[in-house]
Amino acid sequence: MGEKKGRVFSGARPTGRQHLGNYLGAIRNYVALQDDYDCIYCVVDLHALTTLKDTEYLREWTYEMVLDWLAAGLDPARGTIIFVQSHVLQVTELHTILSMVTPLGWLTRLPTFKEKVRQQPDNVNYGLVGYPVLMAADITLYKADTVPVGVDQAPHLEFTREIVRRFNAIFGPVLVEPQAKHTDFPKVLGIDGQQKMSKSLNNHIEIAASPEEIRQRVMQMVTDPQRTHRHIPGRPEVCNVFTLHRFFSPNELAQIDADCRTARIGCVDCKKIFARNLTEYFAPFRERRAALAADPNYVWDILAEGARRASAIATQTLTEVKAAVGLPPVR
Ligand code: SF4
Repeated sequence: MGEKKGRVFSGARPTGRQHLGNYLGAIRNYVALQDDYDCIYCVVDLHALTTLKDTEYLREWTYEMVLDWLAAGLDPARGTIIFVQSHVLQVTELHTILSMVTPLGWLTRLPTFKEKVRQQPDNVNYGLVGYPVLMAADITLYKADTVPVGVDQAPHLEFTREIVRRFNAIFGPVLVEPQAKHTDFPKVLGIDGQQKMSKSLNNHIEIAASPEEIRQRVMQMVTDPQRTHRHIPGRPEVCNVFTLHRFFSPNELAQIDADCRTARIGCVDCKKIFARNLTEYFAPFRERRAALAADPNYVWDILAEGARRASAIATQTLTEVKAAVGLPPVR
């Protein structure tokens, strides 16, 4: 890796084909960070097991997600490491060691844990409690000094920092305390205009969608609820179509705003503009995606190479950690 500002680590659960929320919230930041940082991006498949839902799709969803990442511009040729968490199992060793310095009370008091207990009361498993420790192992194994976080994820990273401080206070300064890189993660609503865009709610628009699929989804989008008739002026500030126009129609924004407020444009025509711009925006992406998908091994080869490179860093860190803790070396 070259001379950069630092090393970024970020992980994402395998969720298959990515949608506009994933793109605006994470992927475009992942791509931009490559300019200034050595980047490590991980498909956290072990984390995905905590819910034990849809595990039969993990392989397919990993493939589709990474294909989207690569087509969107994540580029191993620029030094970026992309790999699957379970392919570098040193993370489970570090997780075990870090679990010894993590008070159980810290974990059970976390609001995210309490929320999970509410969500899946019949499956409050050990992995769910230890989830933040595994996350700390993910970050520290690769000595990442920078982690991109949105406001709502900041407490997760703070937890990792606490574990690092505790470990280093007991065993010496081995682990790197990561800093948060606060990033603008806009909350993208789904086509229902109510809830966060999510595949599980089926209110999403995939970035790999065909022009016809884009058109169909966009036409289903909920707009300003007060605009029940074409002649009623609209309120762009409460319309999700307009929110997304901000990203994909920057040159037409002022015009759309004015035309909506004066009812010079109807929602159907406004959506047609949005669908057209969205289709054009992702056209190069769709082309690259199709080209990369022509070789069914391409994604898996990238992930294998990523795992080899990640493993080299992981082995080095783990050797230092084990020595600091006092575990006997292998002869
Ligand atoms: S005209 Fe456009 S911005 Fe205005 S309410 Fe309809 S979809 Fe939304």
